Amino acid sequence: VLIAFEGIDGTGKSTQLPLLAGFLRDRGYTVVETCEPTSGPYGQQIRALYGNRQQVSPDQELELFLQDRRQHVIECIQPALEQGAIVLTDRYYFSTAAYQGAAGCDPEQIFSRHDFAPEPDLVLLLTLTPEESLSRIRNLRGESPNDFEQQEQLEKVAALFASFSQSCIVRIPAALPIMEVQAAIRNVVQQLLACKE
Ligand code: C5P
Repeated sequence: VLIAFEGIDGTGKSTQLPLLAGFLRDRGYTVVETCEPTSGPYGQQIRALYGNRQQVSPDQELELFLQDRRQHVIECIQPALEQGAIVLTDRYYFSTAAYQGAAGCDPEQIFSRHDFAPEPDLVLLLTLTPEESLSRIRNLRGESPNDFEQQEQLEKVAALFASFSQSCIVRIPAALPIMEVQAAIRNVVQQLLACKE
């Protein structure tokens, strides 16, 4: 079973994912927690670009994400699925379609270049307005994403996430308190697992 957490920055993906992992382990499931960009060579190249994205073109950036994901699928996701684990990934190809789509690539083409990547059973798309996202990044993380371009960029990313209509996507409002968001997530995941059993 493959479950992806998606959403714009500050939606709480990296808070919610371990809470779900613990909940599932307590119920006897084998769970693999993973994230993208990975810590592998391509993921490291991507992280090195965070402060200075203009060094590469949107197409070059897309290629790095594709390489990173290919390696992630081969080395982590596929083997874990074959062993029967529940794989929880913090970001997957929907993030690439949204972020690199916002940077100028064609989202449909990005989806079509992922035939190598197993389709998730469930995408938990955590939703927050761009304003809420920015205020969380500023207040909770103490970071300052304060230029206009970033707000504009985030709005484009949010609009693309909102436009995706694949049947595996379930939208979870993420402005609620942490455990209320978690309860909504557990509810959806328990329904999925009941269908699989
Ligand atoms: O998930 P995390 O908070 O680590 O993501 C860090 C940043 O990576 C995000 O703010 C986003 O700008 C960028 N990103 C991206 N394209 C992706 C995934 C993440 O530009 N496909």
